[in-house]
Amino acid sequence: MATIRKQIIRLLETQECDARMISQCLKIREKEVYEHMPHITRSAAAIKKRLMIIPAECNSCGYQFKDRTKAATPGRCPKCKKERIEPPRFKIR
Ligand SMILES: [Zn+2]
Repeated sequence: MATIRKQIIRLLETQECDARMISQCLKIREKEVYEHMPHITRSAAAIKKRLMIIPAECNSCGYQFKDRTKAATPGRCPKCKKERIEPPRFKIR
C-alpha cells in the first residue's frame, strides 16, 4: 500500500498524469488510483510538496470543472451536455 503511494508520488514528480496513465504505469485499477489520491495529498505535504490537480475539461466546449475537487472524471458537461470530458490530471511539485 505505502509502496504504491510512493510510486505514484515518484511518477507525478516526473510527469503530469491522469488517473488512467497512473493505473497503467503501476498496474493497478483506475478506481484504486482515486482511492489513493487523498493520501497522496497528505504524503506530498509531508515532504513539503503539493499535489496539483489540473481540472477536468470538456472537449466539446472547453468548459473547465474548476470547482470540482474530486479526482474522478465528471460524467458529462453541465454546459453543453456532451460526454467528451478530458479527465483531471495530477502533478506533484
Ligand atoms: Zn461542454
